[in-house]
Amino acid sequence: MYLERFRLAGETALITGGGRGIGLACAEALGEAGARLVILEPRLEEAEAAAEGLRAKGFQARAIQGDVTDPARMDACAAELQDWAPSVLINNAGVGRNGTSAENLTDAEWRLMMEVNVGGVFWCARAFGRAMIAAKRGVIVNIGSMSGTIVNRPQAQTAYNTSKAAVHHLTRNLAAEWAPHGIRVNAVAPTYIETPMVLAVPENQERIPVWIADTPLGRMGKADEVAAAVLFLASPAASLITGAILAVDGGLTVW
Ligand code: NDP
Repeated sequence: MYLERFRLAGETALITGGGRGIGLACAEALGEAGARLVILEPRLEEAEAAAEGLRAKGFQARAIQGDVTDPARMDACAAELQDWAPSVLINNAGVGRNGTSAENLTDAEWRLMMEVNVGGVFWCARAFGRAMIAAKRGVIVNIGSMSGTIVNRPQAQTAYNTSKAAVHHLTRNLAAEWAPHGIRVNAVAPTYIETPMVLAVPENQERIPVWIADTPLGRMGKADEVAAAVLFLASPAASLITGAILAVDGGLTVW
């Protein structure tokens, strides 16, 4: 009876930035639970490649091109997906950049972080949320960060952290506004996860021991550990949960 509540048969899940990293792991988790999958990426080839890989694993998956910073394109995606209208939206697309001190942040860096990490979440929620409101049901899971909850060390990360704090509050606001429409809105707040976003930054090699020392469980996380939490929040197992920011952080934020 309880395991059935994790099933997503009959649901369609759209994952922004689902081509790799945490987004791709979320797609696999939701696919295993029975959802049809839509992978949204700025470059169609990347979305197609991910969708093909997912189909090879036996999931129903399709690709769509879209940059989450383009509100008109997100509205167009919602129109194009009328026969695959998402009942589950995973707002995963994000950009991160560590180490630029606040006084040296450029206008362009600040704007990009806000446009993708906050604007993208809002514009996707608005575009795909309209059909959920019409259907009187839906689930949204946003990927926040532990750094939206605390100021992590040792790197300067003012723009990224501020954008993720905004994601957390956007989550709570949408949860309150859309609960009467039958829509649940939650977020996960992961610790450092072994994905290209983190591993591709050479300076992070020196930071990793500090992060591990700061973490009660004594390690970084893996994308599938975030995906498992996303699956829980997206599924009927979390039917009474909305407006929650679920820490997936090995205890990093308990101090
Ligand atoms: P990756 O960089 O590995 O993947 C990010 C994905 O988002 C890529 O597929 C990327 O596409 C896509 N993307 C970027 N910008 C846009 C855009 N404008 N429109 C659509 N898609 C876009 O990152 P992660 O998997 O590590 O991160 C996923 C989410 O998790 C992010 O929101 C991140 O902030 C968050 N997070 C990550 C943590 C970590 O330690 N890795 C920790 C806490 C939170 P493209 O290939 O074109 O760049």
